[in-house]
Amino acid sequence: MSGGDMAKPLLGHRSMEGDPSVTPAASRTVGVLGSGDFARSLAIRLVCSGFKVVVGSRNPKRKAGLFPAAAEVTFQAEAVKKTDVIFVAVFREHYSTLCDLADVLVGKILVDVSNNTEINHHKESNAEYLASLFPACAVVKGFNVVSAWTLQSGARDGNKQVLICSNNQEAKRTVAEIAQVMGFTPVDMGCMSAACEIENIPLRLLPAWKIPIFLALGLFLCFFTYNLIRQVIHPYIREQKNKLYKIPIEVVNTTLPCVAYVMLSLVYLPGVLAACLQLYYGTKYRRFPDWLDQWLQHRKQIGLLSFFCAALHAVYSLCLPMRRSHRYQLIETAVKQAVEKKMNIWVEEEVWRMEIYLSVGIIALGLLSLLAITSLPSIANSLNWREFSFIQSTLGFIALVISTLHTLTYGWSRAFDENQYKFYLPPTYTLTLLVPCTVILAKVIFSLPCIQQRLLRIRRGWEKGRYVKFILPSATGEYSSGETSSNV
Ligand code: NAP
Repeated sequence: MSGGDMAKPLLGHRSMEGDPSVTPAASRTVGVLGSGDFARSLAIRLVCSGFKVVVGSRNPKRKAGLFPAAAEVTFQAEAVKKTDVIFVAVFREHYSTLCDLADVLVGKILVDVSNNTEINHHKESNAEYLASLFPACAVVKGFNVVSAWTLQSGARDGNKQVLICSNNQEAKRTVAEIAQVMGFTPVDMGCMSAACEIENIPLRLLPAWKIPIFLALGLFLCFFTYNLIRQVIHPYIREQKNKLYKIPIEVVNTTLPCVAYVMLSLVYLPGVLAACLQLYYGTKYRRFPDWLDQWLQHRKQIGLLSFFCAALHAVYSLCLPMRRSHRYQLIETAVKQAVEKKMNIWVEEEVWRMEIYLSVGIIALGLLSLLAITSLPSIANSLNWREFSFIQSTLGFIALVISTLHTLTYGWSRAFDENQYKFYLPPTYTLTLLVPCTVILAKVIFSLPCIQQRLLRIRRGWEKGRYVKFILPSATGEYSSGETSSNV
């Protein structure tokens, strides 16, 4: 690989920002076909960026007032004659109505900005369809991932990336140049076959969040049902007490920390499983199973959802004393104590338990907030790899340990009290401890020097059973070569 090759980014989707071959546009005239929301925002942005803009409309007189005074609004045919680069801000369904312009469009660059209403709606992408209608034009797909709002408010307020693809390199370069002058970051997605993928991007709803959200909902449902049985159904069946009022706050508030705590441990469990596999296979070059790969990729979202549940738990907990039921219970207890003439109600153990429980809870939430903030791209980008890994890995694990202390101080000795086993079901906190304690135990085992050293070697490329060449000096001082297994 030449030095020049080494300087090139490894990924195919190259950011074209800073490309010396992309020179600023010199007050070029840019055309826009259509006079809708996107066309208007595009025209405003282009005018603000120093371009001359000519808008082609079927009804220029009626639409002229919608555009900035600096933009010329005229008939479609007139507009395309005045420029070489034309943004087609028209829906795909209406492309065929532009066929009358085929003669005047010969040799021009058409920028397809369209989106679909469904993923893979048509067999061929909109851009490919436009190219098939106008074979004498150079079609470039681009700007569809930017909303009309982002265009109007300027690139600083929204997504800065503009994904571009085309079979015509020169046309792609021209459109990239325009995007750059408009304040966007053009990203080269390759040739026209990438148009379908680019058109699907704005239609995807939180693609990376689906699995973590379903996981959180699943855990919430399980723990909610479990708590409902223990806190509401059990007292109703055993003592005919109506405790339905507990559902909106108390049951939800005992469920949220369970979800937050288990989700936090699920952030670190795949790392533990990956380490186990690496130790077992004695190499880091063997692919993880797909499910583990997916899990590892979703750790950030799982962590953020854990923080979300923990934050909700904190707010719910602060609101507990505001409830009417809580006030009635307080008064009832006070009256009972007065009747029984109990003066000293201070239980030292309970006081300490509560103080420690709250304190470690606050620290755990603080650490989780730090993890959440540093996983935001803008903050993560300002950290170097070591800082990021220290916060996410070390502080994250400390957050898990502190959350475990929070859970243990909450449960205290309840696990040993048989009254706590409603319908023989153990207290919820004992169930939540299972996965986190497994993760903590595994991490402690991995930190033993003999295992840590082996894991470190594997992660630096050492492989079990791999034959390596060695060179030994002979008795005569000459060197002889041979092969041996690296784990011998
Ligand atoms: P729009 O407000 O409905 O505007 C569409 C324009 O198409 C009309 O104003 C009309 O202008 C023109 N047009 C040309 N021939 C037409 C015909 N036969 N029938 C009807 N209209 C015709 O839509 P838009 O929101 O601006 O979207 C335009 C394109 O941009 C779409 O492909 C869309 O997917 C894409 N896009 C929009 C956004 C956004 O945020 N809105 C974001 C990304 C991409 P004249 O009447 O002046 O000819």
